Formats: sequence, C-alpha cells, structure tokens
Amino acid sequence: MKISIKQLLTLLVLTLLTLMSVILYIGDQRKLIREQVSELEQKAFIISEQANRLNVIVADFNFYHSTNSLTKWSKTLDKIERQSVELLFLTQQSDQSLAKRLGTDIYRIRQQFELLKEASIEKDIQWITINLNTYSQNLITHLHNLSEQTRILSAEELSRLSSYQELALSVTTFFALALLLVLYTALFIPLKTVKSELKKIGDGTALFKINKPSIKEWYELTVSLEAMYQKLRATTVSRKELLDEVEMRKQAELSARELARTDYLTGLPNRMRFFEYFQFHDLSKQEEGYLLFLDIDNLKSVNDNLGHIAGDQLLRSVSQVILRTAYHGDNIARLGGDEFAILHYSESESEVLEFASNLQQAIAEPILVDGTHIRARCSIGIAGYPQDGDEIKELLSCADTAMYFAKRNPVTTSGIVRFTTKLGDLSRHLFTLQHQLRRAVELQEFQVWFQPQIDIKTMQVSGFEALLRWQDPDGRSISPDVFVPLLEKSVDIVKVGEMVFDKAILFHRMLRKLGYDLSISINVSAVQLEREDFISSLQLKVLDSGHNPAHFPLELTETAIFKNKEQTLKSLYELRKLGFKLQLDDFGTGNASLDLLKSFPFDTVKIDKSFTQEAVVKAETKAIIKAITLLSNDLAFDVIIEGVETKEHQVLAMDYQIRSAQGYYYSPAMLSEDAIRWLMDYQRYAEVM
Ligand code: C2E
Ligand code: CA
Ligand code: CA
Repeated sequence: MKISIKQLLTLLVLTLLTLMSVILYIGDQRKLIREQVSELEQKAFIISEQANRLNVIVADFNFYHSTNSLTKWSKTLDKIERQSVELLFLTQQSDQSLAKRLGTDIYRIRQQFELLKEASIEKDIQWITINLNTYSQNLITHLHNLSEQTRILSAEELSRLSSYQELALSVTTFFALALLLVLYTALFIPLKTVKSELKKIGDGTALFKINKPSIKEWYELTVSLEAMYQKLRATTVSRKELLDEVEMRKQAELSARELARTDYLTGLPNRMRFFEYFQFHDLSKQEEGYLLFLDIDNLKSVNDNLGHIAGDQLLRSVSQVILRTAYHGDNIARLGGDEFAILHYSESESEVLEFASNLQQAIAEPILVDGTHIRARCSIGIAGYPQDGDEIKELLSCADTAMYFAKRNPVTTSGIVRFTTKLGDLSRHLFTLQHQLRRAVELQEFQVWFQPQIDIKTMQVSGFEALLRWQDPDGRSISPDVFVPLLEKSVDIVKVGEMVFDKAILFHRMLRKLGYDLSISINVSAVQLEREDFISSLQLKVLDSGHNPAHFPLELTETAIFKNKEQTLKSLYELRKLGFKLQLDDFGTGNASLDLLKSFPFDTVKIDKSFTQEAVVKAETKAIIKAITLLSNDLAFDVIIEGVETKEHQVLAMDYQIRSAQGYYYSPAMLSEDAIRWLMDYQRYAEVM
C-alpha cells in the first residue's frame, strides 16, 4: 500500500497540533497550581497568625481573667481548627501524623480551657495557664509544620508538572524533526529520482524500467513517465541514437572529404587538396620557392602498348620516385592524368634546376612492369614565386606553359624549362589564338586549299592534298602547324575536319566535271580517328553519296597512330575494308616509322619535307630515302616525296624512282578555283613539253 503526501502531511500536522495542545494544557495546569499554592500559603499564613494570637489571648486572660477573652479565645481556636482541617484536606494530609497531632493539640487546649472556666484557685489557674501556653505553643509549632509541608508539596507538584511540560516539548521537537525528515524523503528524494530519470530519457541512457519512489503521487508520476518513455522509445529515435547517427555521418563525410582530396591511384593529394592547401597558406607571405609542373611524356604509349594496368603501375612508381627525391616540406600532388605538381622551397634557381634534373633522371630509371623494363620520360616546367606570381593558379599556369614548351622542344630544352616572360607572351598569344579560333569555328571562317602532287614518271598531276587555311581577325595567315594542334585540343578539329571532307569532295566533283579523275588526299588527326562515329560519317559522306573512297586517301601521322595504336590500327583495317587508301604522313620525323610499316600495310608513305631538304646535303639521309624506296618494292607501297622545292629535289625523286612529288617547285596550295586554273595551265604546258 502506498501512502500519499496528503495523508502523510495530515498525520504529521495532527500529531503536532495534539502535542502543542498538551503543552498548552500543562502550562495552564501549572498556572492553576501556582495560584492554588499561593492560596494555600495564604491560608497557612493566616492559621499561623491565628495561632500566634492564641498566645496573646492566653496572656490577656491571665491578666484580666475576663470571660470575654475566653470567648475570643474559643472562637479563634474554632477558626484554627476549621482552617487547618481544610488545609489538610487540600494538601491531602488528613490521615497523616500531623493531622493527629493538630487534633490532639486542639483537644488539649479545649480541655484546659474548660478547666480554666471552672478553676477558682490561683494555683490551679496558674497551672492551667502554663498548660495552655505549652499546648498553644505546640499547636503553633505544628501549624508551622503544616504550612511548611504544604509549601514543599506544592513545589513538588510544580516541578512534576514542569518536567511533564519539558517531556511534551521534547516529544514535539522530535516530531517536528521527524516531520522535516519525512518531508525531505517524501518530496525531495523522489523529486531527485524523477529529475535524474528525465535526464536519462533526454540523454537516451534510460533503462527499460524506471526506479519508482514509494510515495503515491511520485509513484504515479514515474509510472506515467515510464509509459510515456516506452511510447517515445517505440515511436522516436533517442537523443543518443541521434547523436550516434550524427557522429557516424560526420565520420562518413570526413572520410568522403578525405577521399575526394586524395588521388586514388597514388595516394598523393589530388588537385583539389593541392589548391585547398593554398587557401590556408598565403604564398605572398612565404619566402622564395618554386612550383614544378611535371608531365609524363610516354604514359599514353605505355597504356596503349602494355595496357592500363601497366600505365597505373608506371604512375604509382613515378609518384614514389617523386616522394623519394623531393625534400622534406615539399608539397606534392597528382593533378590528374600524367601531371604532377611539386611545390619546392628553395631560394636558388640553380638549385631548383638541379633538383628538377635529379627528378627527371630518377624517373627515367628503368621500372619493371609486368616483366618488361620501361623508362618513364617526363617534361618539367618551373615557375618561381614571388617573381612569377604569388597565387597558385597563376604559378600553375606559368609552370604549365613552361612544361608545354619543354615537351614541344625536348632536344633544345632537355625537357626542363624555367618560365620566362617571353614564354608567357607566347602562351598569351596561344590563348588569344584559341579564343579567335573558337569564333572562327562558329563562323566557319576556315578555307581548304589544294596542293598538287606530280607523277614523276609521266610528270602528270596525280592528285591534290587538301590543306586547311585560316586568317586571324587581323588578316594574318596562321600556319596549320600552329592552329591545328589547338583545334585538336578543343576537339573542334572534328567539326572542321568534316568541313575539309565536304570541300575536298566538292573539289573532286568539280574536277570530274572538267574531266579530271584525280585523288584528293585528306589529313586526319588522332582526335578524329578516336571518334566512334568517324568511320560511319566517312561512309555517309563518301560511299553513300556514290564516290569512290580510293579517290580520298587518308593521311595519318605516326604520332596520331601511336596515341592509341591498337584502336587506331583496328580503325585503319576497317577503313581499308571500305576501300580507303591509307598514307603514312611525315615519314622520318618520328622514330618508329619503320616499325609502323611492319604493323600495318600502308598504301603510301610520304617522305617528310625536312628529310627531302636534308637529303641533298647529307649522304645518310639520302641513304635512308634509298632504303625506303627499296622497301617500298618489297612491301608494295607507293612513295610520295614532300617539300620538293628545287630541280635538285626533283632529280633526287627521279633517281630513286619515287612515284610522286609534292612541293613549291610545282605549286603551293591554292584556292580550288586557282587550283583548277593552275591545273589547266599545267596540262597545257605539259602537253607542250
Ligand atoms: P603536312 O600534312 O605535312 O602538309 C604538308 C605541309 O607542307 C603543308 O603545310 C604544305 O603547305 C607544306 N609544303 C608543301 N610544299 C612544300 C615545300 O616545297 N616546302 C615546304 N617547306 N613546305 C611545303 P601547311 O599547309 O602549313 O600544313 C602544315 C600541317 O598542318 C600539315 O602538314 C598537316 O599536318 C596539318 N594540316 C593541314 N591541313 C590539315 C587538315 O585539314 N587536317 C589536319 N588534321 N591537319 C592538317
Ligand atoms: Ca599531309
Ligand atoms: Ca607531311
């Protein structure tokens, strides 16, 4: 059974009220007794007075012998008797020895008094008087005793009452303390329990069952709390679970952030982390340093020839070499693809150049990949701060420009270039060009010119090569050697390349109409070949419109083929199946041309103009040209010699029985109308010859 706070309080208040009334009652009693005592004392005093008067009366009688005194005496005695009986009764001493004595005293005095009334002899009277005196004295003494006794008794009564009162007071105090204790345990302890349980519920650490206090109201409160808690548990997520969830998400976010900033392949910081670093490290506040932009030259060819796993291995190994070679405190990141950045703290330019050279050499050490030893080649561009800029974007762009220059000029730069303002101007020029080219693509400002090719045996025109022409907004002719790589970079070459085809087909049609059945060879870049729809679009343009694909030989450079050799060779076989003739352009400029001839049966090989020009002064080059012509017999391909500028070049072509020649000696590239006019003139001239 549970006791309620109301019951408890009622009980305690009642007890306290009772005790307080007891105390008040005792106080009243004491007052009453005190009054009675003073009354008794008063009475005792009066009796004593009366008794004293007895002596006076006796003496008076002895002197006067008057009956008047006797009557007075008798009355006083009566009074004394009455009062002492009353007092004895009041003090409850009636049956005690004192009462007996007092009775005897009074009886004896009365006896003597009677004797005195009848005595006539002086002597007798004397004796009686002496007796009366003695007995009166006795009575006085006993009456004194009585009043003394009365005082003692009243004092005892009072002290007894006061001890009762003290007892009642202690009991009341005890109960009052008990009340406080009960109140504390009944109110505050359960309050604390409920408070802590509520806190636990809030924190989500509450157990299934809540501790319940024994006080009814608190008990009921905790029961409903528990019910509420169970309901809450069933329907909502606890604070702890919520916090756990939040913590888990935080962790996941953190690791996602970490992952997003780490290069998955090498474990190095990636571009994002590298840039973030500079948000917190103001380069303008740092001392001098250099940013090295490192680009692997042959990753593409490793990927193409040995597969992507080998390429990945190469990247990992290069990243390890960089980590090993870099100094403590240098910042290294893989920016993406085959690009790495190293922020190197150094004050001396010669030191950083030496560092770059060591890096390049370390990277060039042979690496064993899949049982094959390969060497990674790299180009490094260097920008310095604060001289080239104190913002990472600026520095990276300068270092990138320098790297690009190093890659394009490996022989003269050894693959390491320190950025200069001249290089910066060059790159700004390229940037402007890119911008202008984008507009030119939109406005279709490109032209296609045609350069004739001459059959050396018959000296007849055997065909034309379609060549792109573009003038910048200032009307300056820009070389395709400059703008074609830019178009390749922006992939605009695909769109422009299609236009070249259209113009070439148109030109071919015009020639046919005039009765010339000549081939128009077309340059195809690697970017075009990589397009999945390249072959189908050619099919549509050439075959589906009723043209003979053999009239449109495709010129491909060795570098274009090596960008993605396997895929390209596949496409080449497909193109050949469709009837296209394939020409290996710029033969001799790369270093794997002969290898390429073994991998794919080209229809024609075009000897590069630099080779032609060198051959007339250099016997070895001449020998190589001779070797190619001999090889052409065995492998059954035709040879076209480019860059024929002089008669001497033509003689060379004739000596080696090269099939066709192309060059300024005959004509540069021309607009289609000019080319037709030139062709007609040439034919007339040839007929005359
Ligand atoms: P390429 O395919 O080797 O083209 C031959 C280049 O040699 C042409 O330069 C031509 O004008 C030049 N040339 C012709 N005869 C002589 C000569 O006797 N002496 C000298 N020194 N040069 C001569 P161009 O037109 O400046 O083209 C440069 C390169 O641009 C081309 O080299 C080709 O790789 C690329 N190109 C041109 N048109 C196209 C195109 O439509 N598509 C693609 N993808 N590339 C093109
Ligand atoms: Ca060409
Ligand atoms: Ca060429």
